[in-house]
Amino acid sequence: MHPFHYVAAVDEASAREAAQRPDARFLAGGTTLVDLMKLHVEQPRVLVDVNGLPLTGIDEQEDGTVRVGAMVRNSDLAHHVLIRSRYPVLAQAILAGASAQVRNMATTGGNLLQRTRCYYFRDTAEACNKREPGSGCAALDGCNRIHAVLGTSDHCIATHPSDMCVALAALDALVHIAGARGSRVVPLIDFHLLPGDDPERETVLAAGELITAVDVPPLAYGRRSVYVKVRDRASYAFALASAAVALDLGPGAIVDARVALGGIATKPWRSREAELALIGKAPTAATFCAAAEAALEEAVPRRHNAFKIALAKRTLVRALTRAGALR
Ligand code: SF4
Repeated sequence: MHPFHYVAAVDEASAREAAQRPDARFLAGGTTLVDLMKLHVEQPRVLVDVNGLPLTGIDEQEDGTVRVGAMVRNSDLAHHVLIRSRYPVLAQAILAGASAQVRNMATTGGNLLQRTRCYYFRDTAEACNKREPGSGCAALDGCNRIHAVLGTSDHCIATHPSDMCVALAALDALVHIAGARGSRVVPLIDFHLLPGDDPERETVLAAGELITAVDVPPLAYGRRSVYVKVRDRASYAFALASAAVALDLGPGAIVDARVALGGIATKPWRSREAELALIGKAPTAATFCAAAEAALEEAVPRRHNAFKIALAKRTLVRALTRAGALR
């Protein structure tokens, strides 16, 4: 493994100070970063351990928002009574990811910073613009079965791997960020960047900026929410397609809807198109199919992943059908 300096941060300020260099990384659960260091994909010069920071609360705010500390472990979040009762889609998404052991280590902030499972990104012998800018993209003409059909560019078609972030995108979550110039709050749907010409830049975070919390705003119809994930094996696998949905049902019609998709896009994919196709319509199979068509209208398939378009549509219809049946 590449040599690096290790710093155990004692507070937020010292953590940010130690991580000012672009080649510094924060270490939380380590479930992505340590793997990538062993593969020589990540080679930080400074590793800033933030496990000692008191960012472990799950607290309800005055307006009903649930504030989740960045160091809250995925297992603790998924099983928390506020999450299970108000946002079942979030609990289901987290529990659909990884294994129990990984979820016990992985953190809320770290989940937002998961890196792609693209085979070529994780193999330093292959060309990868995300790992080595300007080197090319081996996936474009290579094996691209697991790659994205939405949000791609000519420089990268890697899929965002998180389940949790898909649910957070549907729930209008907000990300609290602390940096040398103060704190800021960024909507989750704007936190991750499309690959464009610079796929190595994956989030809005600047050097030294630290995620401190994630807010999940109140959603009156959050109880009627569902996460459906389709994957190659029943557990411990990344999504080929997933859908996070919430439905507000009035008499005979859908009053409001939230739709986000995973496993098929370069970032957690909120689909306003699908939501617009649902709102005001009767909650029927035909409406759900129309929403799925709208969600995938802009999809661009590659040689091996065209199946994902049909799969994502069926996944979304299944999630909407299940949400519509909840009482
Ligand atoms: Fe790298 Fe993205 Fe191409 Fe994968 S899809 S090889 S991550 S540039």
